[in-house]
Amino acid sequence: MFGQDRNYTPMPLPALEKFEPALIDASKDACTDFFQYACSKWIAAHPVPSDMPATSVVLPVYLYNQTILRNAMAKAAADPKATGSERQIGDFWRSCMDQSGRDANSKAWLKPHLDTVAGLKSKQDLSRVLAYVHLSFPAAWNADDNSTQAPLFGFGPTQDFEDASRVVAFLDQGGMALPALNYYLDSGDRFKDLRAKYIEHVRKMFQLGGDDAAHSAAEATTVMEIETAFAKASMDNVSRRDPRKIYNKRTLAQLKTAVPDFDWEDYFRRIGAPTVPFYIVATPGFLTTMEEQIKSRPADDWKTYLRWWVIHRAARYLGSDFERANFEYFSTALSGTPEMLPPWRRCVQSADALLGEALGQAYVNIAFSANSKQRANQIVTQIRQELAGEIRTADWMGEETKKAALVKQDSTLQKIGYPDKWRDYSPVKITAASFLANMNSANEFEMHRQLAKIGKPVDRAEWGMTPATIDAYEDSQTNTINFPAGILQRPFFDPAGDDAANLGSIGGVVGHESIHGFDDQGRKFDANGNLRDWWTAEDARRYDEKDKCIVDQYSQEIPEYGVKQDGRLTAGEDTADNGGLHLAMLALERAYREQGKSLDAKEADGLTARQRFFLSYAFSWCTVLRPEAARRQVISNPHSLANFRVNRPVSNMPEFRQAFGCKQGQPMVHQPACRVW
Ligand SMILES: [Zn+2]
Repeated sequence: MFGQDRNYTPMPLPALEKFEPALIDASKDACTDFFQYACSKWIAAHPVPSDMPATSVVLPVYLYNQTILRNAMAKAAADPKATGSERQIGDFWRSCMDQSGRDANSKAWLKPHLDTVAGLKSKQDLSRVLAYVHLSFPAAWNADDNSTQAPLFGFGPTQDFEDASRVVAFLDQGGMALPALNYYLDSGDRFKDLRAKYIEHVRKMFQLGGDDAAHSAAEATTVMEIETAFAKASMDNVSRRDPRKIYNKRTLAQLKTAVPDFDWEDYFRRIGAPTVPFYIVATPGFLTTMEEQIKSRPADDWKTYLRWWVIHRAARYLGSDFERANFEYFSTALSGTPEMLPPWRRCVQSADALLGEALGQAYVNIAFSANSKQRANQIVTQIRQELAGEIRTADWMGEETKKAALVKQDSTLQKIGYPDKWRDYSPVKITAASFLANMNSANEFEMHRQLAKIGKPVDRAEWGMTPATIDAYEDSQTNTINFPAGILQRPFFDPAGDDAANLGSIGGVVGHESIHGFDDQGRKFDANGNLRDWWTAEDARRYDEKDKCIVDQYSQEIPEYGVKQDGRLTAGEDTADNGGLHLAMLALERAYREQGKSLDAKEADGLTARQRFFLSYAFSWCTVLRPEAARRQVISNPHSLANFRVNRPVSNMPEFRQAFGCKQGQPMVHQPACRVW
């Protein structure tokens, strides 16, 4: 007999790219629009794929990373002897790829969830049913820049801003399925249109869930009314950047006074949250509205509202009618993406989100060698040495503040590639028979894992991104900088690559994350992660004055998308981009000095090292978003659009002028040159 593994055929790994001088668009002027100079040829050769909201140099890496994960899962699925986490990823793969099973069973899989919601007989049941939905569906613990996307409110752990050694309970504004407040509140035609389409989408989902047309329309209106009330009571995303504004201590007694019509104790007990002396409430005014809504609405409205959230959150794990309807609104209407990714890529996405560290081991084995790890670690160390030097020599900081900044810089933990200890997913029940049940079990596991942190010391070794993620992050509270293996790939990083290319690309990323500890948000936390004002008043004043230059430079109308960028929302990221690129340039200068080489002499490829540095930086940002996605980013996301992430920082750097011979008055020479770090 043939073994089952004859069914496993690995997908060949796609090629990774890197910057080549041939990609320069010589018809463009580097000093007029450097982004176009470095990116227009690549972008022209890579139109936005019909299944993506954007085109960018991330795409080849994304496909490469996904292929590795796909092969690991398909191989495990074909191996009848697989055990442990291999069995889990194999069965997960089979459940996700079984389209006919999903199509045939959607209603049956949804039924127990909808029955539980239907069991809400009076408002006293709200706590019980909400706890059930929070345990079964994502992701009540996951606060983003705008809110927590879970019904009614968000609840999870956060490090105590005042005592970073421990984790406390955090209660966030939430209950809204649209990505940001503007989608509910902006009176512009575009948003009105998206709201009309949203109500239509909610109606459609109720119908797919089994309700008749007339009833569904009324239900959709109720959902929109409740979510809009929550949006009106919510804090905007610029205010949310100020940690002091979202740090409001409340005891259980105070929660009960603020929202007497919700049974908090019952909710906390059912969800498995430990008893705590206080809760951090992000938006106290939100609780007032929550009470008004609960008090004024009949139990039926809450049944409707939670029914919507169950169908909404289940949609991606059901049959193609649910999945497609969800895609048509959230990806097509909101981000402009016409087509879905092929099934295998959607399944990889889900697996990475739910079982990321189980897949991460397979990823690292193939894509991240010990040599890569060592070289990347070296670059991070190099860049951080430059940051320490900048702090020491900053002419705008007093001695006292410098000392504290150096202690903070010195105690930052740098994490490269993947966790030292892999997460144990053994409590997650994975079956080849139900994709939705797999998600429910993984979500319950994650919610319990998150809530178990409350009351315990902080674990600095934990990762907030999976190994295959093409991104990086700084966490001011744990005082860590984290670089997953997924971004330590070409064109961002090449263990065999030259200094100018590596420092311009991944060096800029490393610099960016290092600066975050000292940006408008990060600077408010000390070396131990406590929210504490360790700056002298004079130094803080000088910081704000310097940062205002960047806020002004990035506050702008973006006419092609009909939106305005708020430089206060993006200040932290923009400051990190500017400072990060500066640190990377310092590291390159030092490396060349030590090797006795000139940064301004032409090298074998016809470019100077300085030019290759800036071109590699720009190349790593070659991106074009669909207009809907661009608008969504400007409104809801603290990162500037890619062309600004290239052109604004280089226009502030004298080294760029030197590299490309730019003159005063040209667009890539900004007056005044902004610089914080
Ligand atoms: Zn950042």
